[in-house]
Amino acid sequence: MGDNVAANEEVLIWDRETDVVIAGYGGAGAVAAIEAHDAGAEVLILESTDKGGGNTIISFGGFLCPTNVEEAVTYISGLFDLSLSAKDDSLIRIFAEESVKNVEWVTGLKEGTKVHSYGGAGFPTVEGAESMNKYIAHGDGKGMTGFAQNLFNLFRYAVEDQREIPVLTRTPARRLVTNHSGEVVGMIAEAEGKEISIKAKRAVILTTGGYEADIGMLQNHVKGFPIHSLGHPGNTGDGIRMAQKVGAGLWHMNGVSCALGIKVPGFESAFGILMGRPEHIFVDKGGKRFVNEVEIENHAGLLAVDFYDAQSLEYPRIPCYAIFDEEVRNRGRITKMAGLGAAGVEHEWSKDNSVEIEKGWIKKGETLKSLAESIHVDPVALERTISKWNQDVDRGEDTDFGREIAADDGSMRIETAPFYAVELYPCLINTQGGPRRNGKAQVLDAFGDPIPRLYSAGELGSMWGQIYQGSGNIAECIVFGRIAGKNGASEEPWN
Ligand SMILES: Cc1cc2nc3c(=O)[nH]c(=O)nc-3n(C[C@H](O)[C@H](O)[C@H](O)COP(=O)(O)OP(=O)(O)OC[C@H]3O[C@@H](n4cnc5c(N)ncnc54)[C@H](O)[C@@H]3O)c2cc1C
Repeated sequence: MGDNVAANEEVLIWDRETDVVIAGYGGAGAVAAIEAHDAGAEVLILESTDKGGGNTIISFGGFLCPTNVEEAVTYISGLFDLSLSAKDDSLIRIFAEESVKNVEWVTGLKEGTKVHSYGGAGFPTVEGAESMNKYIAHGDGKGMTGFAQNLFNLFRYAVEDQREIPVLTRTPARRLVTNHSGEVVGMIAEAEGKEISIKAKRAVILTTGGYEADIGMLQNHVKGFPIHSLGHPGNTGDGIRMAQKVGAGLWHMNGVSCALGIKVPGFESAFGILMGRPEHIFVDKGGKRFVNEVEIENHAGLLAVDFYDAQSLEYPRIPCYAIFDEEVRNRGRITKMAGLGAAGVEHEWSKDNSVEIEKGWIKKGETLKSLAESIHVDPVALERTISKWNQDVDRGEDTDFGREIAADDGSMRIETAPFYAVELYPCLINTQGGPRRNGKAQVLDAFGDPIPRLYSAGELGSMWGQIYQGSGNIAECIVFGRIAGKNGASEEPWN
């Protein structure tokens, strides 16, 4: 093959060349760039938005660093077995072996970097759970996304300041270029409305994130609608389509990390709502409780509401409603989380929830009947549900879903007018699916064979399936970013 000819192109004159091209400048792209550079490769990053950061910089910023490899393997395997998701044992082992080094790797990026542990397993009853250890990075970041800013600022420092790796922003990657042998040898991107071609002498690494912002792809792979996204609007599944075009096999397309939250006018993204205190209950469209509200793991919101009723032909729990009373409203913010994600960084939730009531994000009714009417729920059913709940509180026993109620905890009664409802939808934190990769971070084709010179990392084709351990995605960016960068850089240049 000549220097300027590629099989899926006519005759290509390369506008630019480098050793390793990385598409997507979030956490995985940054880590891959650092490692590829340190392995001796010349690296170029392409980013579609004006500054990058992706979901990584608007997340909470937690990353896993397990305490024990074998226990981590047992726990993560257990999550796959419980959900019957497609599992790759070797990938889980590699993740466990490498993620125990995450703190060392992150703190090694810049002298004086400090991190601290803030939590553990999302599913503490699963064997091996005690090995899960989640960390956040210190720094000057502000607000709910402060730790994520700290982490991405570290990555940015290591990429741009320390290593001076070029980042072409507002330059979306459009297509992969392959040669006659099916090797990925470059990339077509778009800059200022024009196509540019970039020759990748060693490898291309896809780190374009997930498909949270592509509703069509979501409808084809995920169950439970309407569904909204908390995340970065730039994550439109581009990397999935590019990889598919060169033959990639997909996996984990039905795996999502998904909270419950609200969607309000004026914001492209949704707000995640973490109804942290135990005083509210959830009711479905019929005004009935359907779950132990406090046992829904933060990332498993969709699994709690994606039931489709084959008789009434609807999703009866989408939306569902968190119901509470004036006493709860007065106790402080009803949510611990509305400050994460793309919309959250633009709105600070009021301490007494009054701004959100004023805006209509929280519905108010002077009586339960008027509240029910405002949310189009049968008033009789809602009153019956609240009355039963209050009886259970008095009894100290949730007779429907076994939720823990302290025997003398009258504060859990819903009885003081006015009453409130928050309309909740599944709100995607991120998708997991995409091109399948192996332990070397090579993208695999539909038959499981590596596509030559094509690598990936991060939430694009994540190793996580239907049940997700919190802080596992950024940990995966760090682990497979490192592996992809190192292996991509070690490919022999193709001429
Ligand atoms: C609200 C919220 C909270 C979260 N909290 C946590 C947490 O605490 N811990 C955790 O582990 N995970 C968390 N996650 C998930 C985690 O943030 C992501 O899974 C992870 O950061 C993904 O990193 P990434 O590098 O794969 O993708 P991203 O960080 O999303 O980066 C992808 C980048 O690719 C760019 N891109 C897309 N298409 C193209 C293209 N065609 N060409 C060039 N560039 C392109 C995008 O603009 C983006 O900058 C959270 C997510 C959200 C939304």
